[in-house]
Amino acid sequence: MAFDSLTEKLQNVFKNLRSKGRLTEDDVKEALKEIKRALLAADVNFKVVKDFIKSVQERAIGQDVMNGLNPGQMVIKIVNEELINLMGSETTEIQLQPGKAITVIMMAGLQGAGKTTTTAKLAGKFKLKGKKPLLVACDVYRPAAIKQLQVNGEKQGVEVFSMGENHKPANIARAAIEHAQKNGNDLVILDTAGRLHIDEDMMAELEEIKEEVEVHQTILVIDAMTGQDAVNVAKEFNEKVGIDGVIVTKLDGDTRGGAALSVKAVTGKPILYVGMGEKLSDLEQFYPDRMASRILGMGDVLSLIEKAEAEIDEEKAREMTQKLKKNQFDFDDYLESIKQMKNMGGLGNIMNMLPGLGGMGSKMKGLDDEQTAEAERKMGRMEAIIHSMTPAERANPDILSPSRKHRIAKGAGVDISEVNRMIKQFNEMKKLMKQFGKPGKKKKFGFPF
Ligand code: GDP
Repeated sequence: MAFDSLTEKLQNVFKNLRSKGRLTEDDVKEALKEIKRALLAADVNFKVVKDFIKSVQERAIGQDVMNGLNPGQMVIKIVNEELINLMGSETTEIQLQPGKAITVIMMAGLQGAGKTTTTAKLAGKFKLKGKKPLLVACDVYRPAAIKQLQVNGEKQGVEVFSMGENHKPANIARAAIEHAQKNGNDLVILDTAGRLHIDEDMMAELEEIKEEVEVHQTILVIDAMTGQDAVNVAKEFNEKVGIDGVIVTKLDGDTRGGAALSVKAVTGKPILYVGMGEKLSDLEQFYPDRMASRILGMGDVLSLIEKAEAEIDEEKAREMTQKLKKNQFDFDDYLESIKQMKNMGGLGNIMNMLPGLGGMGSKMKGLDDEQTAEAERKMGRMEAIIHSMTPAERANPDILSPSRKHRIAKGAGVDISEVNRMIKQFNEMKKLMKQFGKPGKKKKFGFPF
């Protein structure tokens, strides 16, 4: 997870600050020195770090903070606010044309940054919002890229427009927009060709597309794992082609996080989304305040809730709530809730977003991983047990006699005590959920634990 090491270091600095009743100017300066080191180690742009520390220092070394009741806490608050500022303060939405008018988005970026994957991810997001996207294969140099867009588009249930490799990208873009007009698409996303490095041809090609068709938003995709290189790429793209926003991919694999922290300050352009994995659902809207909370180890409960809401099938959730209210929740529903939890990326992913669990030190984190793995194994055994039940048993757990339980345990390859334990837990959970299901208490979904 991004920022792990930064979070750990910042938490140490804050622990020190909190342990002091009063803060001297030297205490604050010492803490800022450590924060500076931590940010540089996280590969944040040097000038960005310098400005950041300066802003925090100006605010922290004041009478109000140092003489306040809880100066350590105040410094943390200032760091939090400045981190939010650094990343752009507000969430920036991709600007769409009003009504049914077609919005044209051009995706740009170096080869391998995650452009094609992100294009499909983005289409999925807009489809959920009721748009009818058309993805356009403008990368005419790599047949594999066209194929990849087609495969991903199909997975997302979104149409892909392609003219093969023998046309100029600008012409493909023009033809795609005509197709969109006829076809009722209100969003056209152009997947352009990347290169290994920035070169004149790539920039010229993007310019040509912009001259040929009206591009409403140019979005640059950068790879977080390439750190400051990614930020330099963003700066150059912005100067040469002009960009409206950035999507930072592979934040899941980048333990430092410097690119995400620097790009807004260096380019002046906001981060719109972040890529958190290879799955097409692994794209999160970027909230500077939530990201700051994550970095400071305060968790990101809001993103977690949003993820849950997006991943959980609304229809099924409603059905389940109804069943809970009527106390008809059965093992099939239990199985479904395990499945939905898996869709959310498993327990490990969920735990990372919970306050106090995400930013733990490596030792604690190792323990967590072990516990997570154990819980996930347990979940797998539960699934096996439920799969060994007959449909009648799943629908009506009350008929589970000892001989049936024996048969189920044998089928699932577990001890009968485990079957008994699960049934007991299930009944307890049902009781608990019944309370949640009562009118007046809003509960959209239930976890198996
Ligand atoms: P393009 O050359 O810029 O179009 O890049 P691709 O879309 O082909 O992506 C390159 C690789 O990065 C693929 O293996 C993707 O699955 C992977 N990738 C893209 N976004 C993410 C992300 O957010 N996280 C992770 N872990 N991998 C990603």
